[in-house]
Amino acid sequence: MARLTDPITILKGVGAARAKQFANLNIFTLGDLICHFPRGYEDRTRLVTIDKLEVDKPACFKAMVMNHPRTNHIRKGLDLTKVQVADHTARLNLTFFNNKFAAEQLQYGREYIFYGAVSGDFIGYNMTNPVFEALDSAPVTTRRVLPIYPLTAGLSNAVVLRCVQQALAICDPPEEILPETIRREYGILPADRAYQAIHQPASLQEAELAKRRLIFEEFFVFSAGLSLMRAARASKTAVPYANTDLTAFYAALPFRLTGAQSRAIDQILADMRRGVPMNRLVQGDVGAGKTMVAAAAAFCAIQNGHQCALMAPTEILAEQHYHSLSRLLAPLGVTVGLLTGSMKEKDKKAVRAALADGGIDLVIGTHALLSDATTFRDLGLVIADEQHRFGVAQRSKLSAKGADPHLLVMSATPIPRTLALILYGDLEVSILDELPPGREAVDTFLVGESYRPRINAFIRKQVAEGHQCFVVCPAVEENEELNIKSAELWAETLQTAVFPDLKVALLHGQMKGSEKEGIMAAFAQGEADILVATTVIEVGVDVPNATLMVVEDADRFGLSQLHQLRGRVGRGQAKSYCILTSHSHNAETLQRLKAFCKTTDGFKIAEEDLKMRGPGDFFGQRQSGLPVFRVADLSLDLQSLKDAQAASVQWIEQFGTADTPEAAALRSRIGELFTRAEGTMN
Ligand code: ADP
Ligand code: MG
Repeated sequence: MARLTDPITILKGVGAARAKQFANLNIFTLGDLICHFPRGYEDRTRLVTIDKLEVDKPACFKAMVMNHPRTNHIRKGLDLTKVQVADHTARLNLTFFNNKFAAEQLQYGREYIFYGAVSGDFIGYNMTNPVFEALDSAPVTTRRVLPIYPLTAGLSNAVVLRCVQQALAICDPPEEILPETIRREYGILPADRAYQAIHQPASLQEAELAKRRLIFEEFFVFSAGLSLMRAARASKTAVPYANTDLTAFYAALPFRLTGAQSRAIDQILADMRRGVPMNRLVQGDVGAGKTMVAAAAAFCAIQNGHQCALMAPTEILAEQHYHSLSRLLAPLGVTVGLLTGSMKEKDKKAVRAALADGGIDLVIGTHALLSDATTFRDLGLVIADEQHRFGVAQRSKLSAKGADPHLLVMSATPIPRTLALILYGDLEVSILDELPPGREAVDTFLVGESYRPRINAFIRKQVAEGHQCFVVCPAVEENEELNIKSAELWAETLQTAVFPDLKVALLHGQMKGSEKEGIMAAFAQGEADILVATTVIEVGVDVPNATLMVVEDADRFGLSQLHQLRGRVGRGQAKSYCILTSHSHNAETLQRLKAFCKTTDGFKIAEEDLKMRGPGDFFGQRQSGLPVFRVADLSLDLQSLKDAQAASVQWIEQFGTADTPEAAALRSRIGELFTRAEGTMN
């Protein structure tokens, strides 16, 4: 017997070249292959008679070859083979294009099983390129439910199918992780049957059952993982903070906190007084003032003698937090440091030394904080901003730099409940459902290209009033094929052809960190009137003087992303606007964008986005830190998720610490799932 971890090259017919093709599908081992599930099935089980064949509906039928196949060479590269077949109901003419195999195999007077669809464009029926098998051959492409696999260049469905079947024949499928009690309660197939049936189901119903089992399994592994983490954390201890009086902090604030901010801070302080590490998510729409909540938490940890690390997803955002928090907290005696990847090695070293000896109380940084070189004297609080960009494992990596520090996660993306359950199943939640006073809704419009002169006039008007504008483009460089605006070219056009008298700046993600920072800082200080950018500005950046956001080719963005972009304006006292442009003629797309113009409720927008685009796209590809589910679809399989969650709670209660093979298998699967999630992140 082979093992799941064996390379696929042990299969017959899989050499280096094939292995390379499979690698494109992330398939390296037999286990990967067995977990390469079909994306659909073709039911070829039913045999019909020729007279029952319907136009364009492929079906299987048994027929006898009525003449010798005749091949005509039409021109270079085109051979036509014609043959007539019949059963007791009718005759049928078959045509094969460039099919030597058919010409050689089909024998006059013998019967075969065919699978194909008749076309009705000729007088009488005709069928082109059916597949066929001899009666005495094993059913591979006919007389069965045929799995249809996700493919890549060079790999045909038949090859994948053959390899999967070989793998299943020589290797046991992944071990059972679901106890029988749970399988029975939820009507779930055992693992070995499910893995067989997903690849070679006897019927579509069986395929469906197999799929249900595998979806349940994925959710179960994930939920159990979260439950274990929760349990592990609950068993940890923290020294309760003695001093949670924030009078000095409140006195230093330039404004009054909103009710929601106060509530969130009180919840955090209550967590910090308990003897268990805090594990809290602060969720609030853009502009709700999450930074102040983070600052309060940081101040509290620091006045109790601990250090705090705030991790931001981009250098720009880290920089901005660094400035605003230094301004606020330095006068209160807090030493604030910055640590990002693009800093000079010497400066990084200095900051790291100060963190190690306690010279810095609060450090703000990017992924650079995670590096092994970064150590703390006493890390008491970890804050992750815009957390959806960080996965569970990254959170815990940072946490591991302290002795069970408190954890505070801040998310600006309103998350649909379904996803919240998945992403934050292990967190307590505070919601900032109130914007600071004086904020007016950002008026949003959708316009076509004919409005260009008016858009330009409007930009000019905003600038004349002393304000600034963002213009966001979907691409960095010109891309003719897609015909979408690129930031580079558009910035140049605006500067030279439209606003030669204004200052246009350019910002995109391919620039170096320091360069981006310089441009952003300059814009924030009013040194440019118009900032043309890609979505790098999506996250967090605060320029209260900006009152207009123009999004070019808005149909290229997800609604949640548009909502984030819109949140970049309306942060000051002045009335703000968002203009979406689109060339799209797709009614559904335009409908969606129009609906966006009328809503400011981030949660509603998020739900809509999830429905439209699915969870993979929800936060922008490759950034979500969401576990990569192979079969499950978060937007469709809600009930299954709920069942699996209930079952996993039950499982933890019964077997959580048990030393059974099932429990061990489950633990290793949990590890795998979370590693895969991290692997998808930038
Ligand atoms: P987000 O929740 O999007 O991170 P920020 O923390 O960046 O929001 O806050 C957005 C803006 O609102 C900042 O300029 C901040 O100084 C300001 N702000 C935060 N809280 C208040 C408040 N209670 N009253 C007035 N302005 C506030
Ligand atoms: Mg923020």
